[in-house]
Amino acid sequence: MHILLTNDDGIDGPGLQALYEAVADLPEVEVTVIAPDRNWSISGHNKTMDRPLRVSEIKWYNGLEAFSTDGTPADCVSLAGLGLMPEVPDLVMSGINTGPNLGDDVTYSGTVAAAMEAHIAGIPALAFSCNAYVDFNFNAAARFARRLVTLFQRTLKGEEGGLALTSDLLLNINAPSLNFDEIAGVEITRQGRRIYRDELFRREDPRGRPYYWIGGERPDGHLTDGTDIAAVANNKISITPMMLDLTNYLLMDKLKTWSF
Ligand code: MN
Repeated sequence: MHILLTNDDGIDGPGLQALYEAVADLPEVEVTVIAPDRNWSISGHNKTMDRPLRVSEIKWYNGLEAFSTDGTPADCVSLAGLGLMPEVPDLVMSGINTGPNLGDDVTYSGTVAAAMEAHIAGIPALAFSCNAYVDFNFNAAARFARRLVTLFQRTLKGEEGGLALTSDLLLNINAPSLNFDEIAGVEITRQGRRIYRDELFRREDPRGRPYYWIGGERPDGHLTDGTDIAAVANNKISITPMMLDLTNYLLMDKLKTWSF
């Protein structure tokens, strides 16, 4: 089983290293790391088509070979799937992001965008995020990532009790910043609703010209039962199955009653 690891925090992101260490030593697992050379957090689903992409083969933190590119997280997946890797990966794992990707965050997330790019290419994809802003503990997310890969392998070997790697697999996984043995369980969730507290700051640069900065407090969220936001707030690992059909079917029915 050949796994592509990528992220949006960049090749030196601590969560990518944690994800690598979680799965790389599993038997019959081959791992390729292709990640951006800079931080693409909060950059959304961004694809580079108007300039050349550079890829460097580097010695990674552990002395292993990895690829670093000036492209985006989604570009990393395209590079891998379109020929940089000798074969199309069986699975793309993106993360572990240093920060949550809950509710409306998924529309901003480069971590999720990499998984979406894989999904569009027909490759099973998992996005992993750690629900903290400082002092990240990747243990729960990493151990759960390892568990998922062993379950996929079980099915690949024709054994009972595993999980199937199917092309519809696009999972947004958020884990509490805890040790695995401290989590309260695993919950299958739907996307919740964020409460953003963006504020516009107007300052002046040293030459007296105004500049603007969008800032504000960290986002909050509606703690609605069954959502990703509520699950991680209750110290559970949240798994949200996603799809890219953004059609609002309820609104579609309503619009059909309109007279244009
Ligand atoms: Mn990030």
